[in-house]
Amino acid sequence: MNLIEFYRSFTLPLTMPCEVCGRWEERCLCPKCAICGERGRQTCYDVEDGHGLMRSTEQVESMRVELDKWEAITQAEAEYWMARDREEIEEVLL
Ligand SMILES: [Zn+2]
Ligand SMILES: [Zn+2]
Repeated sequence: MNLIEFYRSFTLPLTMPCEVCGRWEERCLCPKCAICGERGRQTCYDVEDGHGLMRSTEQVESMRVELDKWEAITQAEAEYWMARDREEIEEVLL
């Protein structure tokens, strides 16, 4: 699953975090691409048909940290809704 699918799987934010480092725009670590002038574009980093950009250790590490954060949030959310569902089911049964 890529990052975009990951975010879409639980919410639809109006702005998306950076596809490469996972941070919001103002905190994005990515350098500007010399070819298209964009920063944080996944396609600039493609091995084939890319723009020759390489992910730095900071970018990779940042993405990992940001994904962990989101996972913790979605996990907590899922548990909350599951607990609520269970309560409702118990209410019906009792
Ligand atoms: Zn970035
Ligand atoms: Zn580019």
